[in-house]
Amino acid sequence: MKVALFHGGHDIRVQDLPMPEVGPGHVLVRVRAAGICGSDLHDYRGPMSSVQHPRPSGHELSGEIAAIGSGVEGLEVGLSVGVEPMHLRGCGRCASCRRGHYHVCPRRGLSDGQPLTSAGFSEYDVVAADNVFPLPASISFEEAAILDVYAVAVHALHRVPLRPPHTVAVLGDGAVGIALGQVARTLGAQSVILVGHHDLAMRVAVEAGGADTIVDAGAVDPVDAVVELTDGEGAQCVYEAVGGRGPTVQMACDMAAIGGYVGVIGGFVEPIRLVTESIHRKELDLRWVNSYSTWNGVKEIQIALDLLAAGRIHADPLITHRVPLDRICDGFALADNKRESAAIKVLVIP
Ligand SMILES: [Zn+2]
Ligand SMILES: [Zn+2]
Repeated sequence: MKVALFHGGHDIRVQDLPMPEVGPGHVLVRVRAAGICGSDLHDYRGPMSSVQHPRPSGHELSGEIAAIGSGVEGLEVGLSVGVEPMHLRGCGRCASCRRGHYHVCPRRGLSDGQPLTSAGFSEYDVVAADNVFPLPASISFEEAAILDVYAVAVHALHRVPLRPPHTVAVLGDGAVGIALGQVARTLGAQSVILVGHHDLAMRVAVEAGGADTIVDAGAVDPVDAVVELTDGEGAQCVYEAVGGRGPTVQMACDMAAIGGYVGVIGGFVEPIRLVTESIHRKELDLRWVNSYSTWNGVKEIQIALDLLAAGRIHADPLITHRVPLDRICDGFALADNKRESAAIKVLVIP
């Protein structure tokens, strides 16, 4: 079977490898679509010493069950499934895991000290049986491939729930920012202001129901714009979905209303500085948002799947590019240069 192996940086090679063995409690998935995530780009932009090379990758995937390991019940060959990434699996024993919050398990993504990875950028991947989610007929493999993005949005809205007057600002016009806007509107946000700087992505956000108003951060001061659009109040809930090294947490706090809530989804690659005067004065609640797991006993990826299945949210508009596995390098180049490619979500179709 064909597998893309990541040797660090731009060095991605599609190779033929033997079919993997399907152990007890696992299923073999014939991958039909796999999304390139922002986190996949870190090692692409500069090889990370913290990861072993070469390695397979691709945690946003969907496909069909092709084989079933021993001890697995309730699943059958041919079933279409979405996949919760293997790196989100917890140890199952610690206090966080026992509460169902395996996304913050200190040993998350490890099995006997070895990293658990999903290999969506392959023809086949082996997945633990409880990480697969049967797809209703109304959901395509392509939409299901980005369930992970919607699960992150669902978790963000659990961590920082909407509150009256239900005004929301989202920083970031990437797939997570747009998905978050879509979910927030579906859950009753009165208005969603999306702050971004990619023309096409912002247009898609409005068309896909992910934003009522857009603010072009390249053209205006986003804080002033959000305060103005909320009658001088600021937004009640602000979600930061950018990360990296910019001042977006500060911006999120500065555009939040008095007594407002800020959720930080983006990962930062260096320490961030915050001027806390207005955060203190407005008595903001600042919460971090990391991946997802369960909420009140329900898997958040299942909640995301249910929202998509209900037809209230459409993931298709976020998918801007598709490349075959043999051309995965082109896919990464597209995802890496969003300004030129206008990519939101690039899918690899093995
Ligand atoms: Zn992802
Ligand atoms: Zn644990």
